[in-house]
Amino acid sequence: MPVLVSVAVPVPFLDSLTYRVPPHVEVPVVGARVRVPLGSRVVTGCVIDSMTEDEASPGEWKEIIEVVDRESFLPPTVVELCRWVADYYLAGVGDAIAVAMPPGARDTRPRIKTRRVAAITAHGLSAETTLTPKQRAALEMLAGAPAGLPTSELRDRGITADMLSRLAARGFVSLREDADERDPFERGAMPASAPDTTRQLTAEQAAAFDRLAALTDSGAFNVSLLHGVTGSGKTELYLRLADRVCRAGRQVLVMVPEIALTPALAGLFRGAFGSRVAIQHSALSDGERHDQWQRIRRGEIDVVIGTRSAVFAPLPRPGLIVVDEEHDTSYKQEEAPRYNGRDVAIVRASREKATVILGSATPSMESFQNAMTCKYARIALERRVLDRPMATVTIVNMRDEYAAEGPDVVISRTLAAAVEDRLARREQVLVLLNRRGYSTAVFCRQCGDTFECPNCSISLTVHKGGGGKDRARCHYCNYSIAVPKQCRKCAAPYLEQTGFGTEKVEQHLRDLFPDARIGRIDRDSVRRKGALTSLLSRFADGELDVLVGTQMIAKGHDFPRVTLVGVISADVGLGIADFRAAERTFQLLTQVAGRAGRGERLGEAIVQTLYPEHYSIRLACRQDYGAFFERELVYRRAMRYPPTVAMINAIVRGPTFADAMQTASEIVRRLEPTTAAAHMSVLGPAPAPLPRLRGEHRVQFFLKGARRAEMRNAIRTVLAEMPEIRKRVTVDVDPLTVL
Ligand code: ADP
Ligand code: ZN
Repeated sequence: MPVLVSVAVPVPFLDSLTYRVPPHVEVPVVGARVRVPLGSRVVTGCVIDSMTEDEASPGEWKEIIEVVDRESFLPPTVVELCRWVADYYLAGVGDAIAVAMPPGARDTRPRIKTRRVAAITAHGLSAETTLTPKQRAALEMLAGAPAGLPTSELRDRGITADMLSRLAARGFVSLREDADERDPFERGAMPASAPDTTRQLTAEQAAAFDRLAALTDSGAFNVSLLHGVTGSGKTELYLRLADRVCRAGRQVLVMVPEIALTPALAGLFRGAFGSRVAIQHSALSDGERHDQWQRIRRGEIDVVIGTRSAVFAPLPRPGLIVVDEEHDTSYKQEEAPRYNGRDVAIVRASREKATVILGSATPSMESFQNAMTCKYARIALERRVLDRPMATVTIVNMRDEYAAEGPDVVISRTLAAAVEDRLARREQVLVLLNRRGYSTAVFCRQCGDTFECPNCSISLTVHKGGGGKDRARCHYCNYSIAVPKQCRKCAAPYLEQTGFGTEKVEQHLRDLFPDARIGRIDRDSVRRKGALTSLLSRFADGELDVLVGTQMIAKGHDFPRVTLVGVISADVGLGIADFRAAERTFQLLTQVAGRAGRGERLGEAIVQTLYPEHYSIRLACRQDYGAFFERELVYRRAMRYPPTVAMINAIVRGPTFADAMQTASEIVRRLEPTTAAAHMSVLGPAPAPLPRLRGEHRVQFFLKGARRAEMRNAIRTVLAEMPEIRKRVTVDVDPLTVL
């Protein structure tokens, strides 16, 4: 009986394609890569299913050309997970498979990189003959590393290839080529920190550990929300539970929202688990990622640390998945497939009978709601370890500050005095402003012309280039122009810059404190590979006094010498037309305040805002999550927003507004007959909050209701009827932002 296979091919939005396996070819297993014809091309796809010809509906099938892998390349469990992702998030199955594949997997002839290694020989160990002091030093160094050292490393220590070949010629040293498993820890992790084995868990930690250990031991699927205030020692629990799960022969996946959080965590885990720890995230080079992926696949790894796509890591038998900072929006991929790594983690765990721990000091509304309704176990850590008090929070009303000091104030007097005090005491300071750049708008005082992006409905942000080479740049499409001296419209020399971002904060701090060592972390400052790790470790090592940054500095980091956190414009996020604006603001402020006072000394946070009475700011300053949740839920319920309903957001793009509107209206019209059956309401179409982006006009509509599956089916059916517009519609199931 001829066999057919379903193959996921790398084409956006496409469902799997069916091919026939020719009689002389061995039937490929699920997860194997195959070469198949597609139009006039030959592509590498992944087998996701197989069936005999009489099980399939009749049809004409092309034949596969070549089977690349005799065994599955992607584990079948991961293939199944990708199929779930494609279905749930209305993406093409090839899009989902692509996320799970290591880089270069489509190039089916991976090259093995080698490196030259020098090792000392027995003869070299007993060498008594005439040696130069340098040669003697080289042999001593090699004697300390019997397995040998890479020549690249030796060169860094002053031992040249020449010297090595002379030593090799005398039989003191052997030289060989080794497969180079590129180790991202060389720059992806802080130095492995030895675990403190004498450390006692606090009573709260111990109680949490006992409950979680019982859950991991159960061998059944379960989810816990570990709701622990910042500094309550959640990481310590992850380490101990990971150890327990590994001893039981299963593996552990630890997910963090941002690449910035991997170095410190990887250092901790490496301290405890040695080389059986792998990192998976997009800032590794393709080679590094590929090597690590292969080690995970071969079962050589106990713990994987990574960002959202690590949820697809090819671990053979994961027993524990930790999603740290589970509320973080970075878990959501904002391109197809628009999956949420946290939610996929839960689905994966349910299939692999694993435990999920969602850790956060500020759980998402969704997860807290699930804990309240007992879908998840709720495990609370309400105190910081060693009874360190939470930071005290002072709010500075910037309206008063402007009245007293004029409109150009960036750093309030209160904050400046506190920074000065910390510098004098040689303590460290974090300063948060969640907006990058120097100034956020430019306008002409004579004619009122503004610098808008020609492609997007957004104003350009000025970035300082040094030497008067300022550029105004669009943060969405990267369009940029040099900032001219005169207005482009009326030629008046009165260009004014308003609004400010991290670059200006950095400059004001430098002006105020010329002797302080100040660093900045935002998307602009960490563009260069390794820049982020280097800034973070310099700060951790006390080589910097003040770190200014966007939300990248707010999360997760544990810097014991930070005793002051300043928040500039705490309300930046509240101006955004998004139903999660208050939740985001609350989370960001609570997180950043939690960075202060994690060591022996008391922490303080100073929050500058124009809206001190807004509940998200007020309650974040009190660190009162419970009150915030209650207050926010009232709003979500009244406005019918998640978590009280399920929501799907669709954005239709078009060359003109009228075109986008017409297409959106047509989709909405076709959805109408199904709304009653799918128990949903359709809102819109209406212009999106960002009506123009990258030269396209954007119109939006929402589906809201209680039954997500039926809502998804309704929109899937309508889009299938209109294949010609599919590429212009972005469907976002469980959206985190609706801009
Ligand atoms: P969280 O992740 O909850 O914000 P961490 O796990 O980073 O908190 O812990 C905060 C600090 O307390 C870290 O420096 C950690 O090493 C330390 N710590 C955690 N548990 C203990 C303990 N039982 N005894 C002493 N120090 C601890
Ligand atoms: Zn733009």
